[in-house]
This record gives sequence, C-alpha cells and structure tokens, in this order.
Amino acid sequence: MMKTIGLIGGLSWESTAYYYKYINQGIQARLGGLHSAKCLLYSFDFAEVVQLQEAGQWQEAAALLAEAAAKLEAGGCDVVLICTNTMHTVADEVRRTLSIPLLHIIDETAKEVKRQSIRKVGLLGTRYTMEQPFYRDRLLDLGIEAIVPEKADRDRVHEVIFHELCRGELNPTSKAEYLRIIDRLRTQGAEGIILGCTEIPLLLREGDSPLPLFDTTYIHANAAVQFALNPPVFD
Ligand code: GLU
Repeated sequence: MMKTIGLIGGLSWESTAYYYKYINQGIQARLGGLHSAKCLLYSFDFAEVVQLQEAGQWQEAAALLAEAAAKLEAGGCDVVLICTNTMHTVADEVRRTLSIPLLHIIDETAKEVKRQSIRKVGLLGTRYTMEQPFYRDRLLDLGIEAIVPEKADRDRVHEVIFHELCRGELNPTSKAEYLRIIDRLRTQGAEGIILGCTEIPLLLREGDSPLPLFDTTYIHANAAVQFALNPPVFD
C-alpha cells in the first residue's frame, strides 16, 4: 500500500515544484502505468518565513512549521518532509510534535555522501546553514566533515539564493562564481559538495564541477519515494 507524503513547502516554491516533480517521477518510474504519488502540500508564503529568519526568530518559525506539520498529519500523511535545508535548524522541535516520522534532509544526504565513500565535503547553502552549527554538527555525528567558504564567499552564496534563485532567476555570472567557490573548497580538501540549499540545484548540475555534487532536493525527494513504497522501521 503506497504511503501518503506530506510536504512542508513554499520555502521557496521554486524548489518545492521540483520536489513535486521528482516524487511523482520516482513513483511513476517504480510502479509504471498511470501511477503517481499520494501527497499533501502545505505551501508557505516564503516572505513571512524569511522575515522570521532575518529577525533570528527561530522559535516562532518552528511553531509555524509545527502547525503546518500537524495539518499534514491530521490530513492523513504517513511522513513529513521539510522541503528546505535551512529550516532543518528547527527539525528536531517539529519532529517532537508529530507522531508520524519526519524524513530529515541532512540524514538522507549523509547516507548518499557515505555511499560514495566521501568523508570530507564542502557545504553551500544559506548563511544560516553554513554558519549555524546544526548542519555541520549533524554531519559530523554521521561521520562526515564539512567545510564552508570564507566569509565574503558565504555572503555571495547567500545573496544569490535570496536575490536570484528563490525568484526563479538563473544567472550565468552567479553560476561561474559558485564554481569558483567550489574550486576553492576543492583545494581545501573537499571531495564532494553538498548543494545544501534546495534552490542551488536549479543553477548547478552534476558535471558542472569536477567534484561530485549532492543535490539535496533530489536526494530528499527520492528518500520520500522509497519511504512511500517501502517504509523503514523507525525507532
Ligand atoms: N530553500 C533554501 C534551503 O534549502 C533556502 C530557503 C530558506 O531559507 O528556507 O535552505
């Protein structure tokens, strides 16, 4: 029996659209015919959440996400995904309010990194993801060391996410800048790069860089497909 996937999206909708597409493609590829995913989407007004991020009001943001997650659970979902890396800073708080599993983007990404026998990665994402401890610490607990760009490059990566990618703008100059930043991380020992913001894969694809690129949008969506067809046992 296929499970129902609950998506907390709109953060931003540009990447949520890809979650929806990858999840449906994944179910279709495995079940064939006219099969598609059973899912519910709670889509935020991104501007409201960005305002809380900028004000550092993470507990208020956690409460909003928990409210959305509760609606998805009440709507009959079997699993919840927070469709953004950044908001996983409050994933544990959201998870505690649910009685269904929350599929964690960092855990799923770490599995994929380890599958490729990589132990040291470069991490690109919003300033929050690169600078707060939640992402790098969790990776470290899972046996992966993550390095981030220097301050000026972090600022640039962050700016491109909010001023371009989350507005659907794909700019070749920004792509070249990201590739330059990735190359710096490579010279510092990164063996792969986590595209730790769900919009970055809109700009960069596997093959754009000599290093393996971990597309967190695809990895997370694909984990949801596996769960929907074959739920693992959570403790
Ligand atoms: N989607 C982005 C991420 O994966 C950024 C949006 C946000 O700030 O939540 O981190």
